Amino acid sequence: MSSRFFDCLNCGMRVPRDIGLCPKCDDRVGLQTDGAIITADIAHHQERVVDAMVKLHQLFAAAEAQRAAGLRIIVGSGLIREAVLEELHARLFRGEIGGYTAEGRNHGALLVSLRCNFQALQQ
Ligand SMILES: [Zn+2]
Repeated sequence: MSSRFFDCLNCGMRVPRDIGLCPKCDDRVGLQTDGAIITADIAHHQERVVDAMVKLHQLFAAAEAQRAAGLRIIVGSGLIREAVLEELHARLFRGEIGGYTAEGRNHGALLVSLRCNFQALQQ
């Protein structure tokens, strides 16, 4: 579903997704974001862990297509939370996300920084 091309959010030129700098305006298109933080609850509709992980992957794909800035994932307190933390740790290790943390004292929600630095997300 996701195209190999997207528009540079700075100048509007159509560029390949894997390009580093926009050839027209020199902006770093891989870091561009629409600023949105997408909230999704993947743990409170009787999901099994495997269902929740499918939803997590769909969430990442949608965020990538939209170029969202971050995710706010409602994970509850059980096995789903553990599995999501494991996945986020792996993605952080591979450099696919900027960082993640529990939302304040609410350990049932996780904040994930996709493109911006983490301080920017928490403001
Ligand atoms: Zn551009």
